[in-house]
Amino acid sequence: MTKPRVAILAMGGTIAGSAASDTATTGYKAGALGVEALLSGVPAVRKVAEVTGEQIASLDSKDMDGATWLKLAARCNELLAGDTDGIVITHGTDTLEETAYFLHLTVHSRKPVVLTGSMRPATALSADGPMNLFNAVGLAAEPEAAGRGVLVCLNDQIDSARHVTKAHTTATSTFKSPGLGALGYMNDGHPAFYSKVQRCHTYESEFEAEGLQELPYVKIIYGHADDDALFVDAAIAAGARGIVYAGTGNGSIHRRAEAALARASQAGIIVVRSSRTGCGAVLPAEQSYLDAHFLQGDTLNPQKCRVLLQLALTRTRDWQEIQQMFYRY
Ligand code: ASP
Repeated sequence: MTKPRVAILAMGGTIAGSAASDTATTGYKAGALGVEALLSGVPAVRKVAEVTGEQIASLDSKDMDGATWLKLAARCNELLAGDTDGIVITHGTDTLEETAYFLHLTVHSRKPVVLTGSMRPATALSADGPMNLFNAVGLAAEPEAAGRGVLVCLNDQIDSARHVTKAHTTATSTFKSPGLGALGYMNDGHPAFYSKVQRCHTYESEFEAEGLQELPYVKIIYGHADDDALFVDAAIAAGARGIVYAGTGNGSIHRRAEAALARASQAGIIVVRSSRTGCGAVLPAEQSYLDAHFLQGDTLNPQKCRVLLQLALTRTRDWQEIQQMFYRY
C-alpha cells in the first residue's frame, strides 16, 4: 500500500532548540537544528508517511513577521495543489496560534495542515518534540483530518487554529481552546475527533495571500486601569490601518482611550474590540461603541483579531463588511 505523502515545513522554534545541558528547559537557542535533524530523531514517522523536509525559516517565533506568513501560505498552497497529501509545520509555540490562524484563512485546500512544536528543547530530558512530531505526521496523513481547517497538535490534543491559544508559559500542556474545547485527541498516532469548527476556513475562505507584498499595519493596544490616549494617538500618527483594543471584560474601553479610538475610527481606521480576559465572545455593549463604529471581535483573542483584520483590510475598508467577516470566520 502506498503511504500518504506528507511535507514537513520547518520554521524553527523550541522543537528545533538546542540547550547546553539535558536539564535546561529555558535559556536555549530556538531554531538551532535543521529539519533533517528533527526527522532523524523520529524514524517512526517514515512508517506512517512518505515524508519530505523543507526548511522555510529558523526563527524563534517571537520574531515571526507578515513576510514569512505570506511565504509559508504560498508554499502550502503550492504543495497542496500538487501531489502532497498533507503538511506538518514545525513552529515555535509563542506565535504558533497566529501563524495557524493566518493559514486557516489563506490556505485553499481540504487537505490536512497541522502545526506542531514543543515546550522543551530537543536536547532536554523527556523532550516533548518527538512525540508531538510523530502525532502531527499521523494526523496529517489521516484522511479523516481533511476539511477541518488548519489543526494544531501538541500534547496528544488536536485543536482548531481558530480556537487555540498558548495558555501557559512553560507547561507541555500549554495549548488550550478556552470555552470552545479541543476537536479531538491522538491515540497511538491516530486521531479521534469529537467536534468540528463551524466558522469558514481554508477551502471556503475568501482571503488570498498570493499577490500580496505585505500585510496592512494593524496594532493591538492593551487596556488597563488608568489607560489613556497615548498609544491610540501613536498608532494613528504611525499610519495604522486598524487597531485591536484588548479591552477589559466584554471588550470595555477606558473612557480616555475610547475618545481617542473614536477619533481613529472617524479618520477611517478600523477599530475592533477584543478582550484581555482570555475567554468568551465580545458582544455589543455601550451605545457609544456602536455609534463610533467599533467592531466586535467575537470569540477571537486580540492576536487573532489582528490576523483577521489584516486580511479583511486587503479586501475592503467598509466597517460593516468587516464586522460580517468577524462573524463569518
Ligand atoms: N521561543 C520559542 C518560540 O516560540 C518558544 C517555543 O518554540 O516554544 O520559537
